[in-house]
Amino acid sequence: METKVVGPTGMSLGDEIVGRIDALAAISETATNLTRIFLTPEHRAAGELIMGWMRDAGMSAHLDAIGNVCGRYEGDRPGQPCLMLGSHYDTVRDAGKWDGPLGLITAISCVADLHRRGRRLPFAIEVTGFADEEGVRFASTLLGSRAIAGTFDESALGSKDKAGVKMREAMTAFGLDPDHIGAAARAPSELLAYVELHIEQGPVLESKNLPVGVVTAISGATRLAVELHGMAGHAGTVPMALRRDALAGAAECIVAIEEFCSSDRDGLVGTVGYINAMPGATNVIPGMVSFTIDIRTARDSFRKLAVADIVRHIEEIVKRRKLGLEINVTHENRTVPCAPWLQQQVADAVAAEGYHVFELPSGAGHDGMAMIDIADVAMLFVRCRGGISHNPAEHVETADADAGARVLLRLIENFRAKSNPVVPDK
Ligand SMILES: [Zn+2]
Repeated sequence: METKVVGPTGMSLGDEIVGRIDALAAISETATNLTRIFLTPEHRAAGELIMGWMRDAGMSAHLDAIGNVCGRYEGDRPGQPCLMLGSHYDTVRDAGKWDGPLGLITAISCVADLHRRGRRLPFAIEVTGFADEEGVRFASTLLGSRAIAGTFDESALGSKDKAGVKMREAMTAFGLDPDHIGAAARAPSELLAYVELHIEQGPVLESKNLPVGVVTAISGATRLAVELHGMAGHAGTVPMALRRDALAGAAECIVAIEEFCSSDRDGLVGTVGYINAMPGATNVIPGMVSFTIDIRTARDSFRKLAVADIVRHIEEIVKRRKLGLEINVTHENRTVPCAPWLQQQVADAVAAEGYHVFELPSGAGHDGMAMIDIADVAMLFVRCRGGISHNPAEHVETADADAGARVLLRLIENFRAKSNPVVPDK
């Protein structure tokens, strides 16, 4: 387990990866924090740096029609289908430097290691830096991976950023042709699988004292918008028994949601992240409250049952409190299961590196949600400090970056394509 993979300079893969994480994080919209948004000059500069690393690792590299960075390391014969690795290189505003770049840079370092040893495999390896996973600029996520999967929604080209710039114009300014996004699409027959390494973005691996974890699925999510209607009134004159307080009703609903989701079954989590009380004055009983609910689990059928149960709880509470209720589903996405055959190979690589195989769902969304339309998907999580992400405090220990890289390298070298590749059901 302690055999260290080192480069020509004697650096471990982890050292090389952390150095590059820092170099990439220096390319930002602002000097003091990290912000790298789709189709900006920083985005372009980051892409150039990444393509340089790809070429150093023996890959061909280019930007595709939507700005994804695409590197390819041929197998023992040219033109073979590929094992695709990667992650995204855009960030949220005031981001951490590991979310996205760790998976991308680790994949490049693994290929560089093969290249140094002159090792060619019976399949090609492609490393993709997805252009826009976070969806900060145009409020629609997974633009890069959707373009590759051939599911990019062309109507998004008309959407505007906060400055009023249309995506179509931003693409042209970046040097891309918005009328040729279709050229980024890949055929399912070109891909043997898609595997992404990513920071966990949660505290589970840390609590288990494990550097890496095997992802079972990217959890599906349902979001609801709830409005409770009561009766506004004077805080001093309306007796408690005669009130229809929408905020007190919402409080009871929120506690009920928390209790319901505390079963921890199938990774069930529920969050009320936004609440607004009207009219919102110290001396007025709230007459109307709106709040949101975000429900996620790794099993769609269970999520649907959980949402139905939560709605039933809310209906009971509002009936007892004589409140009016409006409840709407605002967003729903299916669970993306990791393919068992591929997940097993990730688990085997974890075990071969001497780590306990621990499986967990991903509560956060990832590019695999789009890639599933053209390839089987698996993910490997790397521990991050305190489970913190989307925050400058995001941190990964060098030893953990190294552990992730060794597992990924082991996975690549032992990778066996599924005997009968089947295009997953849409
Ligand atoms: Zn990410």
